Amino acid sequence: MEDKGTKCAHPSCQCDAQEDSSFCSTYCEGQGKTADILCSCGHGHCGESRMPEGAE
Ligand SMILES: [Zn+2]
Ligand SMILES: [Zn+2]
Repeated sequence: MEDKGTKCAHPSCQCDAQEDSSFCSTYCEGQGKTADILCSCGHGHCGESRMPEGAE
């Protein structure tokens, strides 16, 4: 079996899902049913739209 390319089940997430989950993180697992505009799972390459540096 090749599980390569298993994507996170979150609609807005572009991360790879964990081996034991359909999501990449607990964040997506909680937001899995919410089709948010952009993912905030915390992974660097994900949701890097317009993130202000050093500001929140
Ligand atoms: Zn993500
Ligand atoms: Zn995710």
